[in-house]
Amino acid sequence: MTPRIDDLPVRDELRGKSPYGAPQLDVPVRLNTNENPYPLPEELVDRIAERVREAARNLNRYPDRDAVELRTGLAAYLTDTTGHRVGVENVWAANGSNEVIQQLLQTFGGPGRTALGFEPSYSMHGLIARGTGTGWISGPRNEDFTIDLAAAERAIAEHRPDVVFITTPNNPTGTAVPPETVRALYDAAQAAKPSMVVLDEAYIEFSHGDSLLALLDGRPHLVVSRTMSKAFGAAGLRLGYLAADPAVVDAVQLVRLPYHLSAVTQATALAALEHTGTLLKYVEQLKSERDRLVSELLALGYEVTESDANFVQFGRFDDAHAVWRQILDRGVLVRDNGVPGWLRVTAGTPAENDAFLDAVRELKKEQT
Ligand code: PMP
Repeated sequence: MTPRIDDLPVRDELRGKSPYGAPQLDVPVRLNTNENPYPLPEELVDRIAERVREAARNLNRYPDRDAVELRTGLAAYLTDTTGHRVGVENVWAANGSNEVIQQLLQTFGGPGRTALGFEPSYSMHGLIARGTGTGWISGPRNEDFTIDLAAAERAIAEHRPDVVFITTPNNPTGTAVPPETVRALYDAAQAAKPSMVVLDEAYIEFSHGDSLLALLDGRPHLVVSRTMSKAFGAAGLRLGYLAADPAVVDAVQLVRLPYHLSAVTQATALAALEHTGTLLKYVEQLKSERDRLVSELLALGYEVTESDANFVQFGRFDDAHAVWRQILDRGVLVRDNGVPGWLRVTAGTPAENDAFLDAVRELKKEQT
């Protein structure tokens, strides 16, 4: 008999639930997980090998538990790219921003506490809430997927969550959140509790606008979460980080596992930071490919949600899942995030995007 989860004494809130599951299918064109389509440049691969070789000589020892050299490099990257001074004391790093978010919920959420996000948004916020025993509250969005400020303020006042997630640009819709909305939601969250506000900027490098990192000034309960998985093209590295008041960095030490960032991860991320310029040069190209996807989808008669990220939400479909399958049958994997009527496509290389556009063009022809 195959073992079943429900036969085990798992926690009640996990019963009948499914794990996060973007399909990892072996198809020619994979545009479903918002990865960067460009492999790391060879000179960086060589530098990683060199740094990892050095680190390997000391693998008998635990790594730097506080990842000071890496956090210093990340702080310099944030300062250089935003003009807002960030020091090592403001930065914390973990295995992907998923782990950053988990550590934040372990610290500020947990049993008897709640977190609120404006949905549809990144599904892992709710799943990590569940995994940490934090209650999840689904806040509202407008029809066009922007945040309805008045409704959002009402939801915060009513539920008084311990943690509020604001994702900008939002996944899966691509929607950017204006700074005045973030300021107002922060104020609402402070008036209600006070609570922590997590600004998830996983895709910020692809945005038409600037990072909202400068909002950290004078807002000790604001946390900006970032990742090297998207703009840096290093999803396989698993490196996420946050910027916040030094007290927040101290607080997450209470829940982080000792030595959570391996010496190999730290060495690889440091090598990647040495090549920031080369890595980020693909960002401009991906932004223009994103804009091309938007205009070609519109020209084909699809509806498109305005995007500030490296992906585009398009629709509308009576049965989005059936369309997802038809696109997959043509060798292109996009994402069905479960938003009724909509699918999401990641901006790939020009050739991958052409393959996707050919597939949806064919579908349109079949319908007419
Ligand atoms: N935040 C958002 C909004 C995301 O879309 C993702 C990845 N899809 C993450 C965080 C997590 O990324 P990672 O753990 O790879 O840093």
